[in-house]
Amino acid sequence: MLRSEFSEALERAGKSENLSRKDLITLLGAGKDESEALFKLADQIRFKYMGNDVHFRGIIEFSNYCTRNCFYCGLRKDNQDLARYRMKEEEIITCAREAARLGCRTIVLQSGEDSFYTAERLAGIVFNLKKELNLAITLSLGERSKKDYALLKEAGADRYLLKQETCAAGLFADLRPGTFLEGRIIRLKWLRELGYQVGSGNMVGLPGQTMETLADDIILMRELEVEMAGIGPFIPNKQTPLGNAPGGTLAMTLKTLAVARLALPCVHLPATTSAASIHPGGRVKALKCGANVVMPNMTPQAYRESYIIYPGKLGVTDTPAQSYSRAVKAVKDAGRNVSEGYGHSLRYNISKIF
Ligand code: SAM
Ligand code: SF4
Repeated sequence: MLRSEFSEALERAGKSENLSRKDLITLLGAGKDESEALFKLADQIRFKYMGNDVHFRGIIEFSNYCTRNCFYCGLRKDNQDLARYRMKEEEIITCAREAARLGCRTIVLQSGEDSFYTAERLAGIVFNLKKELNLAITLSLGERSKKDYALLKEAGADRYLLKQETCAAGLFADLRPGTFLEGRIIRLKWLRELGYQVGSGNMVGLPGQTMETLADDIILMRELEVEMAGIGPFIPNKQTPLGNAPGGTLAMTLKTLAVARLALPCVHLPATTSAASIHPGGRVKALKCGANVVMPNMTPQAYRESYIIYPGKLGVTDTPAQSYSRAVKAVKDAGRNVSEGYGHSLRYNISKIF
């Protein structure tokens, strides 16, 4: 049974009309039958705007040191139960070579907020990677100065991923001590001004989150015109202050993903590792609800057990090749193709044409 307001919102989405906040809340509140209709439309819209290709972004988690103390994250500074590591430049480059050999056209360099890697040092790594390998580079290094972001862009970085995590300003400040939503949004604007393809995103199921804040998360990403939206469940980690909080569910994550696809038809949406970590079929299900990206882990096996953001992370004992094959299998199981292109933002492709 579909509520009439639900059918009407879905119809507007099908005609690519701009969805109102009320529409988004209605769609996020989908019941069982409504979810099926929502997922079906999200899959159709994904096909219409983004095709059947799934883009691979190989992620290299090069340092788990972090100066922050986010309440949800296992890498937080005060977590003493984590062996810390930093990869050397040559290790990062070797890892990227392997990712390229396996077939990744994009690598994501991700770390905690680790000042050991100065912008100059990172720029050198980015420059050398771009010189040697035919790869797009996404950075996911957290909050830095505009000058740092500019230097990294000049060195050749293509994209930056900085999730807003939650658009509820009070919750953001509570969960990320010493940082503010405003600062996050300013950075997302800087990144755009500097010419990066910009990714943001949120966690689903954070304590204190409501359907309204989830809708506002999507609206914020629409206003910022982000080109990628990483939407995954919050998974409680016992080594953090939110260890006993209930986690986000796969059902709510899939609904959020599907609604994001309807509201942001041209955005790159990953089937996140966190969705795959809470359910063995999470990746395939996400690919069928609007997702068009996967992020196979390219971190060397030896470091994986120390990049534990949350428990039960998919592929902790895998090699990069095994993670890549696992991602290929999910793509095939979803009846889709592995993309041979970079999966740049559509806006970037258009600006190359004109
Ligand atoms: N330090 C950078 C930052 O915060 O943007 C990048 C690394 S951080 C570990 C990458 C992402 O992990 C965050 O954007 C956050 O959404 C996600 N994350 C952290 N803790 C999580 C948890 N308990 N459950 C799900 N995702 C989590
Ligand atoms: Fe550090 Fe990022 Fe984890 Fe926060 S989410 S503790 S900034 S690694």
